[in-house]
Amino acid sequence: MVQRTLAIIKPDSVEKKVIGDIVKRIEEAGFKILGLKLTRLTENQAKAFYEIHKDKPFYNDLVKYMTSGPIVPIALEKENAVEDFRKLIGNTDPAKAEKGTIRNIYGTNIERNAIHGSDSPENGEKEVLFFFSLCELL
Ligand code: UDP
Ligand code: MG
Repeated sequence: MVQRTLAIIKPDSVEKKVIGDIVKRIEEAGFKILGLKLTRLTENQAKAFYEIHKDKPFYNDLVKYMTSGPIVPIALEKENAVEDFRKLIGNTDPAKAEKGTIRNIYGTNIERNAIHGSDSPENGEKEVLFFFSLCELL
């Protein structure tokens, strides 16, 4: 099934100047880019995006990190996009992520892990629409 998924190049990757390297890997893996922009989250926007984690011990630090600098949300489409993209980025903890995955290559630690990927087709749809309005999506 053709699915949509949301990637976010996180503030640590933007800071490291690896936006281009990461986008190249995503394109080479066969994903079609439907939308891409450089933007920055407000505290309330970051809180809303990660609402599902609001009771986790890492929530406040996560919100601080995700609002610490610019990010690059990317709307992606592909057959089996959600699962394939999670494979491309690897484990949440870069130290546990398989060699050659984006988090293994560019991540710093379990918080500053370079990139976001939606975890289900439903969340893929929802998260794409969190960042992109219908008229922005090709
Ligand atoms: N995170 C963290 N500490 C943890 C787990 C997660 O700081 O122990 C951060 C990390 O940036 C992660 C995000 O919270 O990407 C969302 O966590 P989730 O469990 O959804 O991991 P993901 O789906 O991003 O792999
Ligand atoms: Mg997640």
